[in-house]
Amino acid sequence: MSAHRGPVIRCVCCGRTGNHAARGLVDACYARHKKHDTLHRFRRRYQVVADTVEEYAFLSELGLDDTQIAARLGISGDALKYALGRAA
Ligand SMILES: [Zn+2]
Repeated sequence: MSAHRGPVIRCVCCGRTGNHAARGLVDACYARHKKHDTLHRFRRRYQVVADTVEEYAFLSELGLDDTQIAARLGISGDALKYALGRAA
């Protein structure tokens, strides 16, 4: 547990602590909900730029393009560009 990429949080779905992926979920849960297409259950109330960037990186690694990622995040392509531009 010495190396971690992001903030350590308590997962909103299982209560375990771990590295935050996005939407209040730890990496393992984010991956599981992504796989089962249940991420919508954890849609954020706030669109946080840092979270958008983290989620973008995660989805980009999975091979999604910007349009698909924006759809996954529930935001427009312009909003995605805005978030990425601001965080750059
Ligand atoms: Zn969990």
